[in-house]
Parts: sequence; C-alpha cells; structure tokens
Amino acid sequence: MTDAAVNLVGKSRTELERLFVAMGEKPFRARQVMRWLYTRRVLDPQAMTDLSLALRERLTASADFRLPEVLARERAADGVIKWQLAAGHGQAIETVFIPEDSRGTLCVSSQVGCAMNCSFCATGHQGFNRNLDAGEIVGQVILAARELAAEDHERAVTNVVFMGMGEPLANLRPLLEAVDVLTDDLAFGLSRRRVTVSTSGLVPQIRKLADAARVALAVSLHAPDDDLRNELVPINRRHPIAELLPACWEYVRKTNTKDVTFEYVMLQGVNDDLSHARKLARLLRNRPAKVNLIPFNPFPGSDYRRSSAAQVDAFRDILMRAGVMTITRRTRGDDIAAACGQLAGRVNNRVSAPLGSKTLGERLS
Ligand code: SAH
Ligand code: SF4
Repeated sequence: MTDAAVNLVGKSRTELERLFVAMGEKPFRARQVMRWLYTRRVLDPQAMTDLSLALRERLTASADFRLPEVLARERAADGVIKWQLAAGHGQAIETVFIPEDSRGTLCVSSQVGCAMNCSFCATGHQGFNRNLDAGEIVGQVILAARELAAEDHERAVTNVVFMGMGEPLANLRPLLEAVDVLTDDLAFGLSRRRVTVSTSGLVPQIRKLADAARVALAVSLHAPDDDLRNELVPINRRHPIAELLPACWEYVRKTNTKDVTFEYVMLQGVNDDLSHARKLARLLRNRPAKVNLIPFNPFPGSDYRRSSAAQVDAFRDILMRAGVMTITRRTRGDDIAAACGQLAGRVNNRVSAPLGSKTLGERLS
C-alpha cells in the first residue's frame, strides 16, 4: 500500500467494474471484491481467495482497503456506542450505533463539521472544514459492522441514518455514492426504507435526491413559521418554508415513498408553545408527513433548555388530534454526548459562519 493507492472502500459496483476493466481484468472481478469488502468485510486482498494470486498481488500493491482510524470508542449506559474517527489534520468525526429492540441504527457523519450554523446544534457551533468522501462515509458503516460482529453483538447494522455531523445534501455526490453501496444487493443490500437522509432543507438538493435515490427523507423543520425558522435554521432565509414543503411533497410523489419525517427539536420557551403546535398541524395535516419531536440535547456553550415532558406531550397531542402522526424521540446515549445534536468531533473551522450568525468560538472571544 502506498499513499497513491486508490482506496476501494466506498466504491460502487459501476466504479469497481470500471477500475477492473482499466486494469485489464474482467468486470465480474468487481462483484467478487464487493462480496469480500461489503458482505464479509474482509480488507486484506490476500484473503480474497477466489481472486487469482496475480490479482491479489496487484491489489496489494496498488489498491487500498482503508477504514477511518478509530481515535476513541465509548459505550453509553443504554448500549449506544460512539466512535470518534480521525478526519486528518488533528480533526475528528463521530459515528453512533443505537441498538433497539428489533433493529440496530447507525448514525453516520457526512462532513467534518457543518456550515449550516443551526443555533441549537453542537456540530453547527463547531463550524465547517470539509466534505467526507464516499470511502469515509461507507468506511464508518464497515467499521461499525466489523466491530459489532467481533464482539458478537446480537444486533447488526440494519438501518443507516445520515444524522451525524454535517449536512448530507451539501455533499451530494459522495452521499449518492455511499447510498448506492448501502442499497446495492451485492454490497450491504439495505432496503431504501432503511436508509434515511436528514437535511436542514436544501431545496434544490432535495429535488436532485428525488431523481437519484429513493431513500427515506427527514427534514429538520424545528419551527412552523419563517421568522422563527430563520433564527433557528439559518438556511431558511435562502429556502423558506413555502418553498421547502412543496419540495417535500414532490419528493414523496416522485420517489413513491410513504412520507417525510419532520424533525422538531423542543426548545423551552422558543418553539414549544401550543400555538406553534397548532401552526405546525395546519402546515402538515392531510399531507404525507409525520413528526419526530426531539427533546433538546444540551452541549457545552448552548443557551437553550429542554422543554418539559408535559409540554412535549401536550404539543404532540395537538398534532395527533389534527391527524398528524407524531412520536417523541427517546434520548439515547446522552451520557457520552452521542445524542442528536451533541456530536462535535474536532473541527478546524475554515469558513466564517454563513448568513451572518456567530459561531460559538466567535461568541466566546
Ligand atoms: N444536518 C442534518 C442531519 C444531522 S442532525 C440535519 O440538520 O437534518 C440530526 C438531527 O438532530 C436534526 O434534526 C437536527 O436538527 C437535530 N439536532 C441538532 N442539534 C440538536 C440538539 N442539540 N438537540 C436535539 N436535536 C438536535
Ligand atoms: Fe448542520 Fe444539521 Fe447541525 Fe444544522 S442541525 S448545524 S444542518 S448538523
């Protein structure tokens, strides 16, 4: 292996076929390598025993099967596991495994930091450094799957959610490559319903996603009107609610998915008033929509407070009475800062905050 070696982790079937043909090999070699890499999660070409000896040597010399380096792993009291992974230049991203009764959900990162600067999010406060490539995204899944299998974990990765660090739709091409590998029967073979992309609302990219991949879509709404959403999710100033929601309904229609999940972080005294619930119900009733209420997870430097359980229940009741399916997301892994919005990793911010809002660093200085 050399630095120049091409990393085959994250390569789709089409790309691997192209690479093998360019090497003068038969395209079906791609399928063989995919089985080793993605199904058996074997990373040593010498162990890929149905390849010819000569090809194994060539792969050893010129290709790489490289996973992100694990800097730390932590296990929460509730079984949640968080990996901190090296992202170069002293930076780190985070990946979280959430075991549930009948499934195992892996929450993956798509960027080193995030440029969207949502006011209630630890990743947003860290700023943005760079996009991950498809190998770094798929690498998180292989790494977790290997470690879970090695410790004989009863639940493997059955679902992948792009809800870790970063705005996945701001990194569309690598995201689509990764989704391709996750859903390819010769690779991970996850059904499209089991892969969820969560976005803060990049409307043009929602349209592109609809054309390219029929995965489950989650949208971070967090407010029922533009004034409040502009404050919480600054990208709303570019793509307001009246533009975002029609793009969501179009997504459902085009992709033939059941609905869009709207995420709504419950911030005490900010967006949790029952009048907000009624407004939200008016936006979503009779639409292919469901709502996930997320109790706010605090992080160092955050000014918000979590809504009371009673307030969350009352908020949910209003939506349910309007016929909008609503669940309250259980907080998982918060004792190791692995819950929604707590992932901070280590990010060397390279951009000034977009749209004029201040990052935590700026506020502290
Ligand atoms: N960038 C994408 C996906 C990652 S965040 C997005 O914003 O959708 C996954 C979810 O956690 C989003 O709905 C996000 O708004 C929410 N979240 C962010 N910070 C949070 C916090 N401190 N507490 C609870 N949820 C939070
Ligand atoms: Fe980025 Fe999502 Fe956090 Fe907003 S909530 S800053 S889009 S990671």
